[in-house]
Amino acid sequence: SGYCADENRYESMEYNHSGASGLLLPALSLGMWHNFGSADSFDNMQAMLRTAFDCGVTYFDLANNYGPVPGSAEENFGRLYAKDFRPYRDELIIASKAGHPMWPGPYGNWGSRKSLLASLDQSLRRTGLEYFDIFYSHRPDPETPLEETMGALASAVQQGKALYAGISNYDGESTLRAAEILRELHCPFVVNQSRYSILDRRIEDNGLKAVAQKAGVGIVAFSPLAQGLLSDKYLDGVPSQSRMAKGRSLSLKESVLTAEKRQQLRQLNELAAQRGQTLAQMALAWVLKDSDVTSVLIGASRPEQIRENIAVLGHTDFTEEELRRIDEIVGR
Ligand code: NDP
Repeated sequence: SGYCADENRYESMEYNHSGASGLLLPALSLGMWHNFGSADSFDNMQAMLRTAFDCGVTYFDLANNYGPVPGSAEENFGRLYAKDFRPYRDELIIASKAGHPMWPGPYGNWGSRKSLLASLDQSLRRTGLEYFDIFYSHRPDPETPLEETMGALASAVQQGKALYAGISNYDGESTLRAAEILRELHCPFVVNQSRYSILDRRIEDNGLKAVAQKAGVGIVAFSPLAQGLLSDKYLDGVPSQSRMAKGRSLSLKESVLTAEKRQQLRQLNELAAQRGQTLAQMALAWVLKDSDVTSVLIGASRPEQIRENIAVLGHTDFTEEELRRIDEIVGR
């Protein structure tokens, strides 16, 4: 049956400018790194995308390699786009990225002009889109001049294959340099997508938080729940349907659940309960409270998680005491 988006979809979502740009991104956006691959349920993917858009989530995040198998998330998104979302193209921000291993040989990886532009064409074919709204360099390439990688992003925009350029996992210093290069190339550069959560403070330490405003760039914060660790699901074990149990994420192994980590999660869970929130909601609120953060980029395995997560809007304030307590619990 056909999909008709909820007519109230824009009533409760908040939208923030990405850095100094005109581009508004929803406070929560949805990524397709997990649960949109070739072995995942198509009906569930469809329900998740519909739920998200019905709640005002306008930004959907892809990369060439999301799956598994690599490329399958883009293909699945393309099928869902053709079925449900084509009439809403101008209401959507759809992003992809290149920079992680994708095809054999020397050109299927990293950040050369050759790799990025070939990958972008592949991503457009897989999704069936005419253009991406944001095209990202997925990670800095230490062996390619930054000028070359940024030049490829600028070409993508000049060729009409992307509207905006983004970078991901770049530190503060390289973000400033990227901004300078892209400004000279008259390329609209709007975002650095980086990991940020109560448990992962690297952007506080690598200079990105310090320079984001100066570079005019918004931060899209990925893995705000540390892949689900910052929820109540791992407090007493490893539920069979969880990302950890599925074992597809190299960075979410059972070995991260040390006695110390469990203790931290329990204490955070108690604080969340005192605030009248789930731990997942408090973790999202903690990232959202930050004025440098344009959008928190969540993943989900079920539509209900998306609804629970979006319900955090309007409850993102913290007292000084709560913030101090959170840092104390995680040893900051
Ligand atoms: P999260 O930290 O939000 O983790 C998502 C997982 O958390 C879900 O799959 C689900 O796990 C669990 N979860 C979500 N909501 C709840 C809830 N309310 N209660 C309990 N558990 C919940 O983000 P991701 O790590 O998935 O990253 C989000 C997106 O960011 C990716 O899809 C991708 O687009 C982007 N990203 C970008 C990277 C980059 O290098 N640029 C790297 C990593 C991610 P479960 O399956 O156990 O239910």
